[in-house]
Amino acid sequence: MENALGPLYSLKYKDFPNERGVFTMSNSSVCGHRWLGPSHSRRELLRGILLLGAGSIGRSAWASAAAETASRVLIESFSAAGRSEGVALFPLIRKTDAQWQHQLSPGSFAITRRADTERPFTGAFWNNHADGLYRCICCDTALFDSRTKFESGTGWPSFWQPISKYNLVESTDRSDGMVRTAVSCRRCDAHLGHVFDDGPPPTRLRYCMNSAALRFVARAT
Ligand SMILES: [Zn+2]
Repeated sequence: MENALGPLYSLKYKDFPNERGVFTMSNSSVCGHRWLGPSHSRRELLRGILLLGAGSIGRSAWASAAAETASRVLIESFSAAGRSEGVALFPLIRKTDAQWQHQLSPGSFAITRRADTERPFTGAFWNNHADGLYRCICCDTALFDSRTKFESGTGWPSFWQPISKYNLVESTDRSDGMVRTAVSCRRCDAHLGHVFDDGPPPTRLRYCMNSAALRFVARAT
C-alpha cells in the first residue's frame, strides 16, 4: 500500500489544480457536503481498479476469505510506520452498549454506536495535517493513512482511499431523507462516516469521516 501511494502527504486541492470544485451545503446536520466538481459516475470502475491494486496483497488472502466465519473476519494489520503486516483472520469484536459507554466518550459512543454525526469544524482531525495513521476509536483497527487525507473544506476529516479494503464495510444508509453509503469498521461494526463519489483524483472518492470515530497515531520512523 505504501508503495502504491508514493510520497504523498496530506493532499490539498492546490495539488489538483484542474479538479477544483465548489462546495455547497446540502444538509447542515449531516456529513453530506457535495463537491460540485467534475461529474463522476465511475465509482464502480474505480472500485474495480482499487480491487485489482489490492490484489497485490496476496492471492492467499482471497483464498482464505472462505475461511471467514460468523465470528472471524479478514483484517489487514499495519505497523506504527504504516507498513502492511499482512491479512489475517481476527475475531469480531462485539460488546454491550454498557461496555462501549464505559470505554468511549459520549460523543464517540453516539457516533460509532448510534450512527450520529459530529458537527462540521468541531472534531479533532478535520484540520489535522500530521503524518500518521487513523485507527478505529473502538478497536484500533487501522482505517486511513494521512497520505490519503485531503482538504475537502467540509469540516470533516476526508480521505480519498481507505488504508485497506479489508478493514472497512460499506452499507446503504437511507436515514435523514437521503440515500448515502455508510462506512463502518469491519472488525467492530463502528459507524465511521460516509463515502461519496465526488472526491479528488486518483480515486474520485471522498471518505467523509467523523473525528470522534478515529484515533490518530503519529507515524513511527
Ligand atoms: Zn473498529
